[in-house]
Amino acid sequence: MKVLISGASVAGPVLAHWLHRYGFEPTIVERTPALRHGLGGHAVDLFSSAAEVTRRMGCWDAIDAARTRLDSLTIERFGKRPVQVDLGRMYAGLSSSHVEILRGELTRILYGTTRDSTEYLFGDSIATMSDDGTGVDVTFDSGTERRFDLVVGADGLHSNVRRLAFGPEGPLHRPLGGYLAVFSMPDLFGLGNRTLAHLSVGKLVGIYGVRQTGLTRAGFLFRAPELQYDYRDKNEQKALLAKEFGDYGWKVPQLLQHLDAAEDFYFDSISQITLDSWYRGRIGLVGDAGYCPGPAVGGGTSLAVVSAYVLAGELAAARSDLQSGLRNYERIIRPLADLSRRISPKVMGTIIPGGSLALRLMPHAAAVLPKLPTAVQRLIWSQNAVGKAISSVPLPDYSDLTRLPV
Ligand SMILES: Cc1cc2nc3c(=O)[nH]c(=O)nc-3n(C[C@H](O)[C@H](O)[C@H](O)COP(=O)(O)OP(=O)(O)OC[C@H]3O[C@@H](n4cnc5c(N)ncnc54)[C@H](O)[C@@H]3O)c2cc1C
Repeated sequence: MKVLISGASVAGPVLAHWLHRYGFEPTIVERTPALRHGLGGHAVDLFSSAAEVTRRMGCWDAIDAARTRLDSLTIERFGKRPVQVDLGRMYAGLSSSHVEILRGELTRILYGTTRDSTEYLFGDSIATMSDDGTGVDVTFDSGTERRFDLVVGADGLHSNVRRLAFGPEGPLHRPLGGYLAVFSMPDLFGLGNRTLAHLSVGKLVGIYGVRQTGLTRAGFLFRAPELQYDYRDKNEQKALLAKEFGDYGWKVPQLLQHLDAAEDFYFDSISQITLDSWYRGRIGLVGDAGYCPGPAVGGGTSLAVVSAYVLAGELAAARSDLQSGLRNYERIIRPLADLSRRISPKVMGTIIPGGSLALRLMPHAAAVLPKLPTAVQRLIWSQNAVGKAISSVPLPDYSDLTRLPV
């Protein structure tokens, strides 16, 4: 059975790995001309259930070795003393095995794990799809035409497959009232393994060192009513960020000096995707493409890993009955995706203070939490944290399915 997957970031390669393990033939089409790896991307989290999936894939050791090793966080505010947070202890309280890794590094490792078992088509994209009930005829931007048994969109928040099969993004897109910008610059402050964050009402600026590149990543999060801008126009977005933070103070003027030169500049609203169903006929969605909980606030990476693992397992368990496989995948993952979507607005509310009380309390809560006994921390996290929620669901065991002919 031939499966076309759109997107070679996180969900795509994990899905391809497991599909191949069960006897499917996966092909991944990725829009970027080559893999964005190593240097690129923001830091993302793998919580214990996602870590367990990568362990079963045989790539956990490589992931663990590539972790960011950011171990301390200093939170600053105007006119207040800095507050220190022990990140290592905080993550230990959150999850028995947690790793923070650059998204690009994770993608590189997942690609290395799958490249011999998966056909990769870089620099191309699906132009049209036609599902006749027995297969899907696909044309690519390159002009190539091919037929697949199933097509899966693992192409992120602004998914192309979703647009082609489910319609425009607008009605499915739920903004949480925040925006996010990230870019790299030279190491201006000798950060080492430290993260610095500066908070004010409605704004958060964070900087951390990337040990693999020696560069600094800067992230800007802010609350705003819906902003009008062209999502393709990076210069317009840079100007918008400069206007929003132009008179901020702290280290921001130095950071903004590197804005114009930033080639990896990323800007987007913090938004969710809500769909009534994640598949139509022989076309399905996985990861952010189907149920993005909001970039940087919803544990989307762990959700993508766990969901891709479950999708492959359920497709294999259902043998040639693809509809049952897709239905069972959605039944298992939907409660998790819903939970993540419910918690992520609270996470956004915590990390970007909405008022002066939150601004006063948040840094102290963050500093005290890691000092509590692990059991107490886990109890607190279980009420509030997406990582805990995602890891609280036991992973199905599909080991009996290995190499079933489909
Ligand atoms: C700034 C930022 C910070 C974040 N921080 C965190 C964090 O701390 N913790 C966390 O867990 N998550 C975080 N996330 C979210 C996390 O990155 C995503 O949830 C995760 O990467 C989702 O994986 P995915 O494979 O579903 O989609 P994506 O990682 O978005 O990958 C989609 C892939 O599809 C490709 N693609 C897009 N369009 C096409 C097309 N037309 N044809 C072919 N390919 C296409 C893209 O190039 C990309 O490779 C953050 C996100 C951002 C933007």
